[in-house]
Amino acid sequence: MLGEFQSRHGEEFGARMINAADARRICPGLVEDGLRAALWSPHELSVDPRQAIRAIPMYLREGLGVTTVFGALANRVEEGRVELSDGRVIECEVAVVCSGEDFQTLFPREFEDSGLTRCKLQMMRTPAQPGGWRLGPHVAAGLTLLHYKAFEASSTLAALRERMERERPEYLRWGIHVLASQNEAGEVAIGDTHEYGMAVEPFCREDLDQLVLRYLGTFLHLPEPRVAERWMGVYAKSTMGATEYVRSPKPGVWIVNGVGGMGMTLSFGLAQEVWDGVDRGSWEPGA
Ligand SMILES: Cc1cc2nc3c(=O)[nH]c(=O)nc-3n(C[C@H](O)[C@H](O)[C@H](O)COP(=O)(O)OP(=O)(O)OC[C@H]3O[C@@H](n4cnc5c(N)ncnc54)[C@H](O)[C@@H]3O)c2cc1C
Repeated sequence: MLGEFQSRHGEEFGARMINAADARRICPGLVEDGLRAALWSPHELSVDPRQAIRAIPMYLREGLGVTTVFGALANRVEEGRVELSDGRVIECEVAVVCSGEDFQTLFPREFEDSGLTRCKLQMMRTPAQPGGWRLGPHVAAGLTLLHYKAFEASSTLAALRERMERERPEYLRWGIHVLASQNEAGEVAIGDTHEYGMAVEPFCREDLDQLVLRYLGTFLHLPEPRVAERWMGVYAKSTMGATEYVRSPKPGVWIVNGVGGMGMTLSFGLAQEVWDGVDRGSWEPGA
């Protein structure tokens, strides 16, 4: 599958196939047993969400003169005005509502027809790896090929799915695919599970975390494998295969939501597209 992806899209993405020895040179934690080759991309980048969430308001203020209001909810959004829970009213030409998984509070009727649902994910993080050990690139394995649409056109996808259904049905049942990435502090984030549905349980299931860790152990050895932190997150996702939900329910009001599991990556492009659409007064995907 990787070879096929490489020959179709390798040039476009600057990715290339490397043999097992090179893969272990770039990523020393890879388990040797069973490793035949890897698809390597020099372009993958990650931001640390804990840093980014703090830095973005500052960047927006200093770079673009944006004011961020903390500690107040938007209670009502009408043409030309947004009413806040602390009594303030913000007057505006355009309001863009990006309320994430809370999609029922402000525009409940629109969301009834939106086809959006919730997705709960469980994640883990190790302590800093000892002695400055570095993972190298972000690492994923076979289950990830079933998760992302980029691999959908592969002629061997069905065979891989059939094999995983036979060998690891519980992984498919709980939407598990396993990614590992390391931050500057040396900690390795490991995830994740995907449970879909409107009612989200607040509890993290240890059996699902164990499935993630067991699969990780088949392809990656970490010098410090203990888990220091566990958490869950929720995002809004389309049940109809759409990569975003963009509607204008009233003049001057836009809802942008449903960016799913790639929202941190794709939102910057989507924001530009939507804003261009707001200027035109209409929006079409990719227009
Ligand atoms: C565990 C996990 C891992 C992920 N990993 C990745 C990844 O590796 N790469 C990637 O690209 N994406 C990833 N995502 C997806 C990404 O985080 C989401 O797609 C993205 O955060 C969605 O952005 P959003 O602005 O639509 O919603 P959110 O990020 O949920 O933001 C919505 C905000 O609106 C606020 N809000 C809601 N209602 C109101 C109101 N009435 N008034 C005021 N504020 C309100 C909420 O408090 C929230 O802060 C991950 C998500 C999770 C949960």
